[in-house]
Amino acid sequence: VKEKGRDAIEFFNQEMANKVSRQLVMEGDLHHAIELEQFELYYQPKLNVQTGELVGAEALLRWHHPDKGAISPMEFIPVLEASGLILQVGQWVIEQACLQLECWGKLGLWRPGMRLSVNISPRQFRRQRFADDVVATLARFELPPDSLDMEVTEGIVIQHVDETIETMTALQNHGVSFSLDDFGTGYSSISYLKRLPVSSLKIDKSFVGDITVDRSDRVLVETIITMGRLLDLELVAEGVEHEEQLDILKEYGCQFYQGYYCSPAVNADAFRFFLDRGAQ
Ligand code: C2E
Ligand code: CA
Ligand code: CA
Ligand code: CA
Repeated sequence: VKEKGRDAIEFFNQEMANKVSRQLVMEGDLHHAIELEQFELYYQPKLNVQTGELVGAEALLRWHHPDKGAISPMEFIPVLEASGLILQVGQWVIEQACLQLECWGKLGLWRPGMRLSVNISPRQFRRQRFADDVVATLARFELPPDSLDMEVTEGIVIQHVDETIETMTALQNHGVSFSLDDFGTGYSSISYLKRLPVSSLKIDKSFVGDITVDRSDRVLVETIITMGRLLDLELVAEGVEHEEQLDILKEYGCQFYQGYYCSPAVNADAFRFFLDRGAQ
């Protein structure tokens, strides 16, 4: 038994060491990725549930590793966050999104009222002067003030509620809207909801996935939608893959959705398809 225990600890330590070394390798690769511009933004359409009309998009970060190919954000975003590199990459994401908006705007493809959402990590949001820097970036591009949305998780509020509200309000005064991402997966959502200046809730795909087969997920989604509507918030369901899921969301009064049922996130060129179609 003792022998076995030692083996287990040995194995555990080895696993830990492997994990740490994998992360260090990835961190090194990520430094290169920034220099060599291996990042790209992809765009997933956001649509009106009732009409199917395009109302905007979510920008999602993609990393094309020279040897390993496409690496999932689920793997590299945590490493960016742990290493602090997310500050640099996050700023790049915002600038790239503004650049793209400027381009689509000039082509007359980005219509008034449409919003492009970028994901903002807690560490990025809490950085000194975050709001000032974003406002400066917005000023450099001549964008309609209401074209940018920021998707944040409740992770941004955990400690400093007052500062969080201050930063959000400063940005909101410049036309930036906020969406609460992964809604329902945390623990403190509802108490913060009342205080935070968010304009929409994103219903996590883990709830939408089984909505057609799991009664409790259905009840949960319906409750989130009802509560959101009472609080005057827009509701965006993510991870919609089938028509049956869309039918239920329609019935519950959810206004917007994203998901493979329409399209995964695609590169800027491919996204033109949705913009052209939406412009008809
Ligand atoms: P998220 O913000 O919750 O984004 C939704 C994820 O679901 C995306 O994964 C998207 O590609 C995927 N998805 C969309 N529709 C469907 C569907 O119908 N079915 C399924 N199964 N999945 C769907 P992705 O692109 O791999 O991103 C994963 C996470 O990485 C994001 O979750 C977000 O938290 C983070 N992330 C991505 N880009 C950025 C970024 O630029 N900055 C930051 N800070 N985080 C990012
Ligand atoms: Ca998101
Ligand atoms: Ca999510
Ligand atoms: Ca997430």
